Amino acid sequence: MDLGISGRKALVCASSKGLGRACAISLAREGVSLTLVARGAEALEQTAAEIRASAGVEVATVIADVTTGEGRSAVLAACPQPDILVTNAGGPKPGDFRNWDRDTWIAALDANMLTPIALIQATVDGMIARRFGRIINITSAAVKAPIDILGLSNGARAGLTGFVAGLARTTVVHNVTINNLLPGPFETDRLKETAAQWAAKRGKSIDEVIAERRAGNPAHRLGDPAEFGDACAYLCSAQAGFITGQNLLLDGGHYPGTF
Ligand code: NAP
Repeated sequence: MDLGISGRKALVCASSKGLGRACAISLAREGVSLTLVARGAEALEQTAAEIRASAGVEVATVIADVTTGEGRSAVLAACPQPDILVTNAGGPKPGDFRNWDRDTWIAALDANMLTPIALIQATVDGMIARRFGRIINITSAAVKAPIDILGLSNGARAGLTGFVAGLARTTVVHNVTINNLLPGPFETDRLKETAAQWAAKRGKSIDEVIAERRAGNPAHRLGDPAEFGDACAYLCSAQAGFITGQNLLLDGGHYPGTF
């Protein structure tokens, strides 16, 4: 299926690795030109070079921490009028809420709630004026089913989800949609980090913890980031203009509810 977005411009945050990278690859395959962002230069330039070579689209890179005001200014200067915005940043560290002070909470809210809102605020009116926009927030399965050691993520991402639910109903009339993608366990560096925390807590090896996650998933495997990227590309497609304010869970059926 031709997704009808060839020639569009996408700003994909936190995209040198993992799920952000996968979204960038899938969008590039559809002919979308990209601005990619990460803090580390090496993986970012490598990803950009791979995409240029494989998809033949324009790929700009911005080395920035998207969770800071300075970082966001640099990103928006490089791509002031995206047609597609994918918000993403590293997830908060796992831990016990008894050890988290106000600064810890503010940092999590900044990264996983206020940064996506600031990026939406800076770009949504241009999308409305141009009568096309697709905004995707990478959140987490933890929004549907909280994970105890990821309390900072549970809280901050639920706040973003509530905000987006309201805004998304006001932009769709202008062909600007806002949706969230909720990853369950995908095979990325982040998953290995979280597995290391579980392993330390339970006195197991990281491999044992990851094997348990595979076995405990109805699909008996972890998600492939490419599957995530293709879901993102579909939600950014011309055909997806009637889908807004939704939370698409990609977890191999792990969440047990009917809805
Ligand atoms: P990952 O493989 O660790 O990749 C993270 C990417 O984001 C890297 O490119 C990293 O590059 C970049 N990044 C991180 N913080 C950044 C910042 N402040 N500014 C700019 N770039 C930043 O992680 P992932 O698995 O793709 O996870 C993406 C998001 O999904 C995270 O919020 C994670 O918590 C969430 N999630 C993932 C899973 C999973 O199973 N993978 C499940 C649930 C939720 P630099 O380090 O160089 O900046």
